[in-house]
Amino acid sequence: MTLERETIPFDVLFVGAGPACLAGAIRLKQLADEKSMELEIAVIEKGSEVGAHAVSGAIFDPCALQALMPDFLEKGFPFEAVVRGDALYYLTADKAIAAPILPRYLHNQGFYVVSLSRLSRWMGALAEEAGINVFCGFAGKEVLYSEDGTRVIGVRTGDKGLDKDGLPKANFEPGADLTANVTVFGEGARGSLYPDVARRMRLEDHRMPQVYETGIKEVIELPETGAFPSDGPNVMHFLGYPLGPFRAGGGFLYDMGENRIGIGYLTALGYEDARIDPYGMFLRFKSHPFIRSRISSGKVIEQGARTVSVGGFHTIPKLVMNGGLIVGASAGIHDVLGLKGIHAAMYSGIWAAEAIFQALQSGDTSEAGLSAYPKVFETSKLHAAIFEGRNTTAALAKTNPVRYLFLGAQYVTGGKGLRDPMWLHADAETLKPISEAEQAPGDPSAQPDGVWMVDKLTGVYLSRTHHREDQPSHLIIHDSKLCITTCLERYGNPCTRFCPGQVYEYHEHPETGAREIKLNPSNCLHCKTCDIKDPFGNITWTCPEGGEGPEYRMV
Ligand code: SF4
Repeated sequence: MTLERETIPFDVLFVGAGPACLAGAIRLKQLADEKSMELEIAVIEKGSEVGAHAVSGAIFDPCALQALMPDFLEKGFPFEAVVRGDALYYLTADKAIAAPILPRYLHNQGFYVVSLSRLSRWMGALAEEAGINVFCGFAGKEVLYSEDGTRVIGVRTGDKGLDKDGLPKANFEPGADLTANVTVFGEGARGSLYPDVARRMRLEDHRMPQVYETGIKEVIELPETGAFPSDGPNVMHFLGYPLGPFRAGGGFLYDMGENRIGIGYLTALGYEDARIDPYGMFLRFKSHPFIRSRISSGKVIEQGARTVSVGGFHTIPKLVMNGGLIVGASAGIHDVLGLKGIHAAMYSGIWAAEAIFQALQSGDTSEAGLSAYPKVFETSKLHAAIFEGRNTTAALAKTNPVRYLFLGAQYVTGGKGLRDPMWLHADAETLKPISEAEQAPGDPSAQPDGVWMVDKLTGVYLSRTHHREDQPSHLIIHDSKLCITTCLERYGNPCTRFCPGQVYEYHEHPETGAREIKLNPSNCLHCKTCDIKDPFGNITWTCPEGGEGPEYRMV
């Protein structure tokens, strides 16, 4: 069947309504308005509304927002609390040891605790007020290239109304071809269009593989205010328990105003132990006596999960191509040492917009015409901060005491350390056979009570995740036989543990003994962990119908 697809042309198309693309779209519109230039700018977002898929810690350095709109406070910038100070703790199994000094890049005093979901929604509203087309519920399904394949010319959105077998139902609507002089990819960590564009345009040549952490975050409502003393730090960072001293990851407790507290735990996906479950690590972190004493009178009111790209400097791809740019977490632009990415994403969007504007004015939107973007980035303070942390993730990936030697040497040498550069290994390559695995770290007795500790399925419910059941699975298992043979024997089906949405379940028929991995795609939180960590690359995450997935409001 030949489909009639609508083609909608724009001058500039931003893919993903996160802070990078929204800052970029707003900056581009400002520049166009200053020169009275008519530009059709569009932002597409796969969530049902802007912010629906946005989840992060998040401590926010307002420097980029200030540059974009100096009157951001008057415009109603949504924040949960102002950071009074930071504290850093190392957790043993039953104690919290406060660090006597704080690393210089963890001083967040005066910055803001934000909900990325609320911040994105606010920016989306400002973009619409400025005259930018913001289309929610539209998933970019495919990148469009010029006939000779040397130029990005836009994005095809996903079809709607397909049945389980991929056949059109009565309400079928084919996706549209959104074409543009310039397309900006800002889909967040592990974007679904990014791998294709990176391969076709060779964006990752001579780069190290990107690596990730899976973070689970909750907002907990307490019966009364006062979780943080009014004269002390209201931002706490944690290392140690349950991952221990030789695995990468950590937790946080953030003041979210009134009687709310933001709590999260990130597990680096370079772990070797096939028994590790990032959700289980989060529960064990919550049950630590120091953490529990602050949250156990409360109730989880929202939960979310997402991967974060943490490889840093050596993993940042080529940022421009003919007709396209990569911004924000899609490009791995993240301040690894400062544990912050939102201001970095915004800056990348702003610099991309300024380069696009120049390119449109000169009529040259080729890779060379857009090259002002990487040039400005490379001379920025942000780049210097990212460069200083260039070997941090690789040092943290060491699983023995030598990691602290590397980290210490990097701290006093501005990042160079004992070896420069240090190589990173893709997260899919690090698992050891389950026969060599220990028990997952931490106390296994940390069990959900349904109130302040909730299980995976309750977490899915609290993320308001929804997908229409009667559609093709957006999770593709390329070889289902591999799951019940080699993967089961060697790694014990790690997808059944690393997925925070309990999407993958192992079943063995009680009579026939037939085995299968059963999929529950409607639980999917769009975190992308499975696309990253599966040791055989046997799982590919694709976009379901636009408008589905989580409906975050405050994480
Ligand atoms: Fe995350 Fe994959 Fe599970 Fe969806 S199926 S929640 S993307 S791990």
